[in-house]
Order: sequence, then C-alpha cells, then structure tokens
Amino acid sequence: MDIKGSIAIVTGANRGMGRHFARQLLERGAAKVYAGVRRVEGVDIPGVEVVPLDITDRASVAAAAAVASDATLVVNNAGIATFANLVSGSEDAIRSEMETNYFGTLNMVRAFAPVLGSNGGGAMLNILSVLSWRSAGLGHAYSAAKAASWSLTNGARLELAAQGTQVTGLHVGGVDTDMLKDIPAVKADPADVVRAGLDGIESGALEVLADQVSKDFKAILNADPGVTYP
Ligand code: NDP
Repeated sequence: MDIKGSIAIVTGANRGMGRHFARQLLERGAAKVYAGVRRVEGVDIPGVEVVPLDITDRASVAAAAAVASDATLVVNNAGIATFANLVSGSEDAIRSEMETNYFGTLNMVRAFAPVLGSNGGGAMLNILSVLSWRSAGLGHAYSAAKAASWSLTNGARLELAAQGTQVTGLHVGGVDTDMLKDIPAVKADPADVVRAGLDGIESGALEVLADQVSKDFKAILNADPGVTYP
C-alpha cells in the first residue's frame, strides 16, 4: 500500500517509536496523521491531529474510531513491558501486559476493521517483537503477550483479506526507547526500525524483521507449511 495520500492513526504516538511513526508518515506524504495518545496535554508533534486514545478502554477506542473514521492505515504501536517473570513476578503486572499488548491491540483491530473496510481496505501495521516467537532470558510474560499479539496479527490478516486490508507484522528487536532504558541490550535507532516497518507496508510484506541480532527469523517463518513470506 502507498503511504503517500494515506490517512493514518498511530497508537502511543507521544513518545518512542510511535512519535517516529507519526513524523515519518508525514514525511512519506500521508495526507493526515492522527496521533492516538493517553494524555493529550503537552503532546506537540507538528502536523498531526492529537486524539485521546487508551487502547485498553473500549469506549476510548470507539471514540477514536469515530474521529478517525477516514483512516486508511492503522499503526498498532502502543505497548508496555514490565519485564515481570512468569513465576516470581507480580500477577497484576503479567495481566497488564496481556491487557495492553493483546487485548488493547484486539480492541483496535475490532474497532478499526470496519473503518478500513469502508475506506477501501487500507492497511494495518502491528508492532510485535522478536520475543513474539522466542524467549530470551527476560520478559517471559511480555513474550507471551507479544506472541498472542502475533497470533492476532496472523488471524486478522486472514479475516480481513476479503475486505482488502493488508495486515503486516513488524518484529522488533532491542530499540533505544524508554521501554528498554534500564535493560542492557543491543539497541537499534528507533528511526531506523520505523523506516523498516513503513518500507514493509509499502512493499506489501506480511512480516518484517527489524533486529540487529536475529538471523533465524525467516527460517522459522518459512517452516510454516503453505505460507511463503517475501
Ligand atoms: P515506549 O515505552 O517508548 O512507548 C510506549 C508507548 O505506548 C507510549 O506512547 C505509551 O503511552 C503508549 N501506551 C502504553 N499503553 C497504552 C495504552 N493503554 N493506550 C495507549 N497508549 C499506550 O515504547 P516503544 O516505543 O519502545 O514501544 C513501541 C512498541 O514497540 C510497543 O508495542 C513495544 O512492545 C514494541 N517493542 C519495543 C521494543 C524495544 O526494544 N523498545 C522491542 C520490541 C517491541 P504513555 O506515554 O501514555 O505511557
């Protein structure tokens, strides 16, 4: 799908990768960008229309879908990581990761599927993680929530194909944002990761990997019988 001329909404657009998504979409010629944010005060991204949006709150998501009823591109970027352990971590923290990363994204998919359908199909980009498909010694509860979000992405792709909606998953490795500020890891520049995701939308990719470490992603995907990934 061409980003030029698109009308996009980005969740969690006030900081981190979301802010880069909003900016780069405008740079690529999006006709309009809605910045979905939990707190609208002080959000200052030139050229975007700020929309209150908490993805875990269905009423908030429905209100945002009514405002952004002309959207042709949805970037499901908002997410949280508590890095709680499965066994020793707090159950509330573990549930909050599922609530935001899975159910929050599901709320967005359900509310915006009809919007995209009524605007010609459009596209959806879901921000996943290399931890969606492997565990890496930390954040195992986060990993489970992002695995669920990957499954949601694959299912939504099949369910929305009939209405012409392109659904792309962006699997991100370590990125230099607030989320990883206390975690020692190899970290990519968020601008580069966002560029890879937007390139993926424009090329029609189903899955995009933006990670400085992983090498085995394609092999795992291509072991999936009956599916060929570009
Ligand atoms: P940040 O922590 O920098 O930003 C997270 C953004 O999500 C913030 O804008 C935050 O808003 C928003 N957000 C959180 N919960 C909600 C909610 N319920 N409703 C609306 N917005 C919400 O993280 P990143 O930019 O690094 O993360 C972006 C995406 O990339 C996430 O999905 C994350 O899981 C994924 N990712 C990140 C990696 C990394 O290394 N950084 C690695 C792999 C994946 P607020 O300011 O109000 O808190």
